Amino acid sequence: MAEQRTALISGSAGFIGYYLGQRLLTDGFRVIGVDSLSDYYDPNLKRRRQANLLQNAGFSAVNEPIEKPGLLADLFAEHRPDIVVHLAAQAGVRYSIDNPRSYLESNLVGTFELLEAARAHPPQHMLLASTSSAYGANTEMPYRETMKADHQMSFYAATKKATEAMAHSYAHLFDLPVTMFRFFTVYGPWGRPDMALFKFTRAMLAGEAIDVYNHGEMMRDFTYVEDLVEAIRRLIDAAPVRPESAEDIAEGDSLSPVAPWRVVNIGNSKPVQLGDMIAAIEDALGMKAKRNLMPMQPGDVPATWADAELLRTLTGYVPETDIREGVRRFVAWYRDYYQV
Ligand code: NAD
Repeated sequence: MAEQRTALISGSAGFIGYYLGQRLLTDGFRVIGVDSLSDYYDPNLKRRRQANLLQNAGFSAVNEPIEKPGLLADLFAEHRPDIVVHLAAQAGVRYSIDNPRSYLESNLVGTFELLEAARAHPPQHMLLASTSSAYGANTEMPYRETMKADHQMSFYAATKKATEAMAHSYAHLFDLPVTMFRFFTVYGPWGRPDMALFKFTRAMLAGEAIDVYNHGEMMRDFTYVEDLVEAIRRLIDAAPVRPESAEDIAEGDSLSPVAPWRVVNIGNSKPVQLGDMIAAIEDALGMKAKRNLMPMQPGDVPATWADAELLRTLTGYVPETDIREGVRRFVAWYRDYYQV
């Protein structure tokens, strides 16, 4: 029998961490979950997700902030994780405008602590979450990993881009195989209360108007959470190796010539107009939305669109769930969970 592998997931009580935890447990991993249960959004939702994970004997939870000095170093020394998936972060573009400090602590100091722990006890593969926002002011579509990703438009995006640079330097200096994901607007049941789908569904069921930014002229590459986790699962077993020369890097590949390093978009590659997402909620709820048309919000970009060819080449898989089906599943979960 193959030896059981240990995975450490930071942000395991979060939306994506919860799904990934379930998936890795199903696949026979022992999972150590680290999550501070921060109050950025309803901690009860995080507790419920964590309680579900704890039903599995292979899961253990550590509820501490990752930036706490030595916390991750001690966990790495004790458990020697084979695989590390770093999802813990202060997320959210708009919140970062008024609350930048929490992004420094969770995203920069937290990632530093993780990298230091990995330097002392190197895992087989580290996979870290970055974001489509890392593409910054780029307007060329679709976003491809080999494009320049400069001029971040929000402090959230700036900290995420900085973690990419930090992780690359550790990959290079200490020969740590690192995959950096760029996720594109992830949604689904158990999703985040600060994101549009959740806010619109809540408001519509309460008979309130929804705030539609940029007058609805907004396009997002919505990615269904189970598809995203399928892609992560496949990438876990595709650790990058240090290329022998720059010529070894295939066209479209974002491997660094100096480090076992890769950047991979995980997105549907089928951008959806905000209006079509709202129409999908209206259909799922059987009611029309009242709309407050608002200007573009600072920090936001009008469109995101993933080029998913690198993901397809590496894994043979690209996300496939259609927005209508994904929204239908979210709305069914929401009504059941909140009994509305
Ligand atoms: P989430 O907020 O639901 O999950 C993050 C989890 O990390 C939370 O449970 C939170 O309590 C925990 N956390 C935050 N700061 C922490 C700290 N300092 N120490 C320990 N735990 C901490 O968000 P998510 O949607 O699951 O996102 C996961 C990752 O994916 C994040 O890094 C996020 O930036 C990135 N991402 C998400 C999306 C998306 O659309 N959901 C898009 C792009 C990137």
